[in-house]
Amino acid sequence: MVEQLQRYGVIRSGRVAEVMEAIDRGLFVPSGGSPYFDSPMPIGYNATISAPHMHAACLELLEKNLQPGMRALDVGSGTGYLTACFALMVGSEGRAVGVEHIPELVATSIENIKKSAAAPMLNDGSLSIHIADGREGWPELAPYDAIHVGAAAPQIPEALIEQLKPGGRMVIPVGTVFQELKVVDKKLDGTVSIRDETSVRYVPLTSKESQLHAN
Ligand code: SAH
Repeated sequence: MVEQLQRYGVIRSGRVAEVMEAIDRGLFVPSGGSPYFDSPMPIGYNATISAPHMHAACLELLEKNLQPGMRALDVGSGTGYLTACFALMVGSEGRAVGVEHIPELVATSIENIKKSAAAPMLNDGSLSIHIADGREGWPELAPYDAIHVGAAAPQIPEALIEQLKPGGRMVIPVGTVFQELKVVDKKLDGTVSIRDETSVRYVPLTSKESQLHAN
């Protein structure tokens, strides 16, 4: 899977290839799914684990902000796959924080991570997953060098921009029917620049009630 993503040019960084090799996606996709197939897979609760090429693309975009010792926030952490990748990249001196509003998904994600190469970070406290509304971010550990949002917001939540460190980068899908993956950079002087990376299709960043009662 990783070799194919490298061949297609989605993965260019050696660190991203290494971390995606180290965190076995097979541990995070529910049984019956095809973990190494380049497609999103249902994980219950009207949610999906993103396709490997989207995980890879987001890791590439955030790579410079996932250096050892840095802080990363994963909003809508779902299966915990990307939070585990972040934890390996920032290491035990850094912090990787997942926020997910479905308690059952949080419980499963912690079980998944315990079986993965990121288990030591869960034990030493540098990786944590919290049950909360991710639209509010996780102010306790702000500011973050990297913020990833795994669900599409109608607009960029103000709290997330606030929790971005000067020099930090956020990757967030924005839109309802048509969505763009936006790259939000906060410069050292605090000004914010936003660009569109690519068109995407994510599940919505919404309230727990709307998500569970969708369809
Ligand atoms: N990156 C995750 C993506 C999971 S899908 C993965 O690959 O496993 C998006 C996730 O966002 C879902 O698990 C959904 O429950 C969660 N979500 C949606 N709205 C949310 C909100 N307001 N707060 C927290 N999590 C939210």
